[in-house]
Amino acid sequence: LANRKFHPDSSIFNIAGRTVGESHFSVIAGPCSVETIPQMTETAEAVKKSGASFLRGGAFKPRTSPYSFQGLHDEGLKILLEAKKATGLPIVTEIMNQAHLDLFEDVDIIQVGARNMQNFELLKELGKCNKPILLKRGLSSTIEEWVMSAEYIMAGGNEQVIFCERGIRTYETFTRNTLDLSAIPALKSISHLPVIVDPSHATGLPWMVESLTKAAIAVGADGIMIEVHNNPKKALCDGAQSLTPQQFDNVMQTVKKRVEFEGKI
Ligand code: PEP
Ligand code: MN
Repeated sequence: LANRKFHPDSSIFNIAGRTVGESHFSVIAGPCSVETIPQMTETAEAVKKSGASFLRGGAFKPRTSPYSFQGLHDEGLKILLEAKKATGLPIVTEIMNQAHLDLFEDVDIIQVGARNMQNFELLKELGKCNKPILLKRGLSSTIEEWVMSAEYIMAGGNEQVIFCERGIRTYETFTRNTLDLSAIPALKSISHLPVIVDPSHATGLPWMVESLTKAAIAVGADGIMIEVHNNPKKALCDGAQSLTPQQFDNVMQTVKKRVEFEGKI
């Protein structure tokens, strides 16, 4: 179902009035985790002003250590929905357990994180809902495995899947992960689904976000997801890789120029 052979035209999704795929370049921005109402509304207003199309923020966080901040759960989703109401920005947030699906009713795009890319029971449940799914690449997953995970969702009847390349594990330690730019043309050739790039998790380095955003546009990505925090130093999660609203605004100036040059909107 994800294969371009049987669906030659690229898929274009209309999500909360925004077009995702092909001739549109989508920008998802926001903090790693939802923390407080002021943190979320301030960040949301800022990324909206700079031109983001979607607001992100995690309420259920898949942390490596059980002692790290795990997210605010349903309280976090409430705050995220407040920020959606205040700014009108559609929201993207991660699901970790299919039992929580009811809480995601007003979420516009449900994210499946890298760690759950092969949580097949979760994927099957998401296949039964009619919400767009942002499917991040597993930590060490091949493109074939990743496409098969999309297939799990689509086989259930939900064909709105967006791939998100977020870097893979290699021997390199300079960056948090290694951004696999070749995955974008690879996926574009074998699948009709949109592909976006997350330079924040791929590098862990805020100063690399701009160059890799340019690279993502150059290789044909349909959008980017960037972590932005109103006060990165105080962030409860991924502060070190988050951009300040000012840094994000600078990146967006570049995005606008490049995207126009590429003929995307
Ligand atoms: C995230 O988007 O905050 C996240 C946890 O990403 P990943 O699943 O790609 O590590
Ligand atoms: Mn994060």
